[in-house]
Amino acid sequence: MPKEAVQVVFTSKGVVAVERSEVPVAGTGELVVRIDRVGVCGTDLHLLDGHIGDPFPLVPGHEFVGVVAEVGPGDERGLAAGDRVAVEMLVVCGRCDRCREGRRNLCVRDDPATHPGAGRQMGVNIPRSVRPFAGGYATHLVAPRDAVVHRIPDGVPLETAVLVEPLAVSVRAVERGRISVGDTVAIIGPGPIGLLAAAAAVSAGATEIVVVGGRTARRMLAHSFGATHTVAGSGEAAFAEVRQIIPGGPDVVIECAGNTRAQLDAIRMVRRGGRVVLAGACGSGLTLCIPSDDLLLTREIDLLPSFLAAGGYERALKLLDQARFPYASLVTHVYALDEVEKAFAAVNARSEGLIKAVLVPPAD
Ligand SMILES: [Zn+2]
Ligand SMILES: [Zn+2]
Repeated sequence: MPKEAVQVVFTSKGVVAVERSEVPVAGTGELVVRIDRVGVCGTDLHLLDGHIGDPFPLVPGHEFVGVVAEVGPGDERGLAAGDRVAVEMLVVCGRCDRCREGRRNLCVRDDPATHPGAGRQMGVNIPRSVRPFAGGYATHLVAPRDAVVHRIPDGVPLETAVLVEPLAVSVRAVERGRISVGDTVAIIGPGPIGLLAAAAAVSAGATEIVVVGGRTARRMLAHSFGATHTVAGSGEAAFAEVRQIIPGGPDVVIECAGNTRAQLDAIRMVRRGGRVVLAGACGSGLTLCIPSDDLLLTREIDLLPSFLAAGGYERALKLLDQARFPYASLVTHVYALDEVEKAFAAVNARSEGLIKAVLVPPAD
């Protein structure tokens, strides 16, 4: 064990620091996880820009995997030091009505309406003052008693397992869309979530998958994640091309681009009576204007927002274990933890070849 823990801290809006402290000790019911690697998510950059509230100072990072370093007294998860694990970012109560119906992402504890200021998403809205080791941009993370922890299957290397959170988000989007055998699907936005949603949709039985929009390199990559067709652009032109491929429109459209124009494209593109999954976050305060009768009512469209991963982790780990798709190819950029600003600059530059950047904390 190293004598010190290292964390990247967002100290205030726009300010990043690398800080060192004592290695945490596992309290009752807690696990100390030695983080092996952590994915850089667009959410992290939005957090730093101050677009997702004011959780500062915050240790970001919710796409992390690692190895159990210490098991605290009274831990009931049956884990041991050395186990390779993925920890769900949501720390939920497990007892409220939403938790019990499997929608942990809607746990009452994370509802700002009833629990103001009580964030429950590790690496997103739990300030360091509340939990000092609750973010993945670090050497160590403390998983509290009520965190959900998954053992990573032996056949899945940590280099691939680091995609479990975005894949779990994609699995949930596919489940929200009730995609099943023979369905036709369009996916708008070939970022990591969109590409992984294509893989999840194929696994759920979709037979035709059109990936729409984004950069050329990403559309090329979409074919190796199960896309049968790709279409460039957006709006009218993309609509016409998708309708040529799937006359009448796809059964399901998953919107992963995270902007209201793409959401409207999705609603327009889907077939009559179809399902639209809204999986991309647009940023708070934005309004989606839908021609209500023309696009929704008279076409009986199901609008299905999909937020975070809920119960998608186990299935995501199964998909990674099946290794049916070249998941590791999504991780295009790897940086040391203290190169975090370099990693952010690369993500912000939206370079053609960058799909997913990953940070690796220093080894012991
Ligand atoms: Zn993420
Ligand atoms: Zn709950």
